[in-house]
Amino acid sequence: MTEPTLRGKVSLVTGASRGIGRAIARTLATAGATVVVGARDSAKLEEVVAEVGAAGGRALPLRLDVADRASVEAAFAAILGEHGRIDHLVNNAGITRDNLLLRMKPAEWDDVLATNLTGTFLCTQAALRPMLKQRAGRIVNVTSVVGLAGNAGQANYAASKAGIVGFTKSIAREVASRGITVNAVAPGFIETDMTGAMTEKARDAIVSGIPLGRVGRPEDVAGVVAFLVSDAAAYVTGQVLAVDGGFHM
Ligand code: NAP
Repeated sequence: MTEPTLRGKVSLVTGASRGIGRAIARTLATAGATVVVGARDSAKLEEVVAEVGAAGGRALPLRLDVADRASVEAAFAAILGEHGRIDHLVNNAGITRDNLLLRMKPAEWDDVLATNLTGTFLCTQAALRPMLKQRAGRIVNVTSVVGLAGNAGQANYAASKAGIVGFTKSIAREVASRGITVNAVAPGFIETDMTGAMTEKARDAIVSGIPLGRVGRPEDVAGVVAFLVSDAAAYVTGQVLAVDGGFHM
């Protein structure tokens, strides 16, 4: 078994109540980090804390709405008040509101952009202040292959995720001289609530386009995030790493 490599580090994972974020929280905690798990559903966060604790790790729940500036500011004040630092920010919270563009309601556009893109902006800005003082930090943004390739019915989601790509590269350039790296992971089709309701036929069609021949698991993404926050990735910044079984290459 590999020795934990994140001991003494403080991580915030947004959208950690379910799916990919929950797996990222488990993986970082197993590697020794103290993981603050943020999302809106407090009951689910308590489940994650218990799950991480049962596996010998440490997670702390934090109610957080990434689309709400006041909520983000309160969350970071709480983290800095309790720990005095933040080493890793994983901007994972995300939603979909799919529709063809001609039928897309303004609220479907606004909600997706507010959570996925503005949420990433608000949390990154709040995390950078202490990271700049520390002259160290790791930020990992969760984008999507849809942000790289587009997808019919997901113009709002694709725009938000493509926005995260440009944001990641810009901030990576802004803060590189201060010892902070900023990277993104671009998951393909990962089995979570977000991709839950699907017929076997639709699923088979997707799998047939994936060179590695299976859909992804949340742990597949979590392992890559753990790498990007680790010392092993000290010389990696401004990159978008697809975690998609080779779907988009
Ligand atoms: P999921 O199972 O639906 O989980 C989404 C998480 O985001 C939940 O924990 C949810 O918690 C949280 N969240 C949503 N709105 C929030 C807000 N305003 N403030 C704070 N937390 C919020 O989705 P997932 O599949 O794990 O997706 C995680 C990330 O991966 C997303 O950014 C998604 O776009 C991306 N991704 C997923 C796939 C895939 O195939 N699943 C592929 C590519 C990219 P609450 O509801 O409790 O707030």
